[in-house]
This record gives sequence, C-alpha cells and structure tokens, in this order.
Amino acid sequence: MIKLQIRIGDITDFNGDAIVNAANHSLLGGGGVDGAIHHAAGPALNNACMKLNGCKTGEAKLTDGYNLPANYIIHTVGPIWHATKTDAIQLANCYRNALRIAVNHGFKTIAFPSISTGAYGYPLDQAAPIAVKTILQFPSDIAVSMVCFDERTADAYQRALQNYESGF
Ligand code: ADP
Repeated sequence: MIKLQIRIGDITDFNGDAIVNAANHSLLGGGGVDGAIHHAAGPALNNACMKLNGCKTGEAKLTDGYNLPANYIIHTVGPIWHATKTDAIQLANCYRNALRIAVNHGFKTIAFPSISTGAYGYPLDQAAPIAVKTILQFPSDIAVSMVCFDERTADAYQRALQNYESGF
C-alpha cells in the first residue's frame, strides 16, 4: 500500500528518488514551483527539457534531477481550472501518470507539490481530495510526500486525507 505523508516545505529540498514538477506545456520553466525547480536544478535541466517536445495536460515526462538533492524530476502539466469535469480527470491523470513513471523506474520515495492550485487556479478544497484519492488508490508500496508550500495548503490535504480514511 502507498504511504502518504503531508508536510510543509520547499519541494526542491526533497532528498529522495524523484520530485514532481507542476510544469506547463512547454516544459521550459515558468513561475511558482516550476521556476523554483528549474532554478535549483540548474541550466542543464532546461537543455534536457528542450529535447522532450513539451507535455500534454495530465501526462508526465522524466528528467534527471541535476543539481537537486532528488535524483529525478517527473514533469507533469496540471489542468488550468475551467470548472468542468475534464479538470478533475486531468488532475487525477497527473498524479497517476507521475506515479506510473515512478513505479516503472523502481522509485521508492517521491514528492508531489499541490498541482494546479497556484497559477492554474484549481480550488484547493476540490483539488486536495482528488490528489489524495488518486495517490492512495494507486497500486504500489512507494512512499509519497505531499510537500505543501504553506499551512493553508497542508491543512487542505490533511483534511482530505482524514476524510478519505474515514470513508467520506
Ligand atoms: P500551477 O501552475 O500548477 O498552479 P504553481 O507553481 O503556481 O503551479 O502552484 C502550485 C503549488 O505549488 C502552490 O500551492 C504553490 O504555493 C506551490 N509552490 C510554489 N513553490 C513551491 C516550492 N518551492 N515547493 C513546494 N511547493 C511550491
């Protein structure tokens, strides 16, 4: 079974097999967590990303971690919030496809940021239960950390985890 831990921190400090990047279609860097990851990984990351031909919403692609403490980066592109059913499907696909890459490479420890709830505008109280459910229902024994940048975000994921565990 997947082990899920929710914590507050900067995902670029995660010292494990892989961190997940909430990237954009170009994979060439942006603001928020994407900018922080590109900054911490160094310019070699951008060179690697240029060879990937971008990434579609809900899909995921792997690169090395370069100067990061984490060995690899799994880049995924969250949906921009449009208040449609597609948003939820695509958001779940981000978590599922990132986990699939992690499992296929034998990773034991990975960290996710709160995908889509920053610049992409996905309401936190709707994104968190989707993330928690998708992670916990993924068939694997990988250890997953949700690394939240602030307390409000961590609270939302903690609540979603408690609700999931109590059957809501
Ligand atoms: P998106 O475009 O998918 O919404 P953002 O980067 O704008 O992505 O925001 C996603 C989440 O990542 C937000 O909760 C934001 O506060 C958080 N975040 C920003 N920088 C970091 C970081 N260094 N580590 C972890 N989370 C971060």
